[in-house]
This record gives sequence, C-alpha cells and structure tokens, in this order.
Amino acid sequence: MNMIFLGAPGAGKGTQAEVVCKELNIPAISTGNMLREAVKNGTAAGLAAKDYMDKGELVPDEVVIGILKDRIARDDAKNGFILDGFPRTVAQAEALEKMGVRIDKVIEIDVPDDAITARMSGRRVCEGCGNSYHIKFKPTKVEGICDACGAKVVQRIDDKPETVQARLKTYHEKTAPLKDYYLSRGKLVTVQGQNEIAETSRLTLAAIKG
Ligand code: ADP
Ligand code: ZN
Repeated sequence: MNMIFLGAPGAGKGTQAEVVCKELNIPAISTGNMLREAVKNGTAAGLAAKDYMDKGELVPDEVVIGILKDRIARDDAKNGFILDGFPRTVAQAEALEKMGVRIDKVIEIDVPDDAITARMSGRRVCEGCGNSYHIKFKPTKVEGICDACGAKVVQRIDDKPETVQARLKTYHEKTAPLKDYYLSRGKLVTVQGQNEIAETSRLTLAAIKG
C-alpha cells in the first residue's frame, strides 16, 4: 500500500509513520529527515535547502522532488511506502502523479495549532538516525540518547517558538490545500491526533485497514 501522511508540523505524522511502517513492514520516507541528512553531509541539495529549513519555509519544489524521486525508485519501496512530509504543495502532488506513482490513501493527522505550539518545545530528534522523541510524551530510555542507535538526541533549530509559528503559517498556506486535492480524489482519511500517541496509532491503523 502506498500512503501519504499529511499534517501540520508537530502533528505527529513522523511518529505515526514509524509505528505503521513497522506494522506493515514498508519504509517510511521522510523528506524532512532526508533533507537534514543532506544538510549534515553538505550535499548540493543540502546547501540549497538549509536556509529555507532554518527559517521554517518550504524548500523549493524542484529540490525536494529530485530527492524523493531517487528515494522512491529504490527496491525497498516496491511493495509500498509511507510518504511522511511529502507532498507539501499542490505542485509536489502533481509531480507525484506525473511520475506515475499510485497513491492508495492519504492519512491526515489533525491537531489544532494551539496544541501543536504547546508540544513543540519538548520535541527532540536523533542526530544519528533521525528518530523523533518527546521529553514528555515519547522519552528516550536513557536521557539524551537515541534508543535505536545510541547517538545524541537534540532540539531542532526550527523547533524554536518563532520558527514553529512560521512553519504553521506555511502549512496553512501551502500544504493544507492538499486536503481538498486528495478529498476530491477520494483518498483522504482524517485521524484525530491530539490524544495520546498510542491512541492516535490505534486510530491511524484503523483508518489504514478500514
Ligand atoms: P515538520 O513536519 O515537523 O515540519 P519535517 O522534518 O517534515 O518537519 O520538515 C522540516 C523542514 O524540511 C520543513 O520545514 C521544510 O523546510 C523542509 N521540507 C521537508 N519536506 C518538504 C517538502 N516536501 N517540501 C518542501 N520542504 C520540505
Ligand atoms: Zn538514532
């Protein structure tokens, strides 16, 4: 099954993508993680992306579409995948269609903006493997250390309150129109994401299987 996880920054789509990809044994493809990796490695795409990311703006479509296209062509994506954080603009959704990529379902994780703002300060990400954590809702077993790979977990530069507001604005302007885009194609399912992580996972898996 080919799926898209849609939602505001901090709505928990990355966390849910990790849960579902284990359950269904398909990769979760996060353009945010790939871009952070590209920035860390100083690749051409990373250099093109960094300033936008730090400001909470979208990276230009052609950069992200290029990265996504290469990733989706790999063998492990043949039996299905979850796109986490892509598409984020109507132009990106159209690019997917043009590539001939079939999408079975779009799961929207819906969380009100004020709940998101409250959550973001506790968010942490692993410097090594990109896994995401939350100091209160999804803590690491050992403080500051990733459960999966043992690297350090840190706060993202773009999780500062001002930048979070910029990212929410970008989401409403550029990404939220994708809800209508996929609704009109009969693909959109909305899941309430403001409760406990496990409860959201239950609703998400039900939405996928239903
Ligand atoms: P979040 O969903 O929490 O905002 P991500 O890790 O998905 O975080 O993305 C972080 C940043 O990477 C975004 O603010 C944006 O600058 C960039 N980015 C990720 N995916 C895309 C995309 N599909 N199109 C444009 N920019 C993207
Ligand atoms: Zn890690």
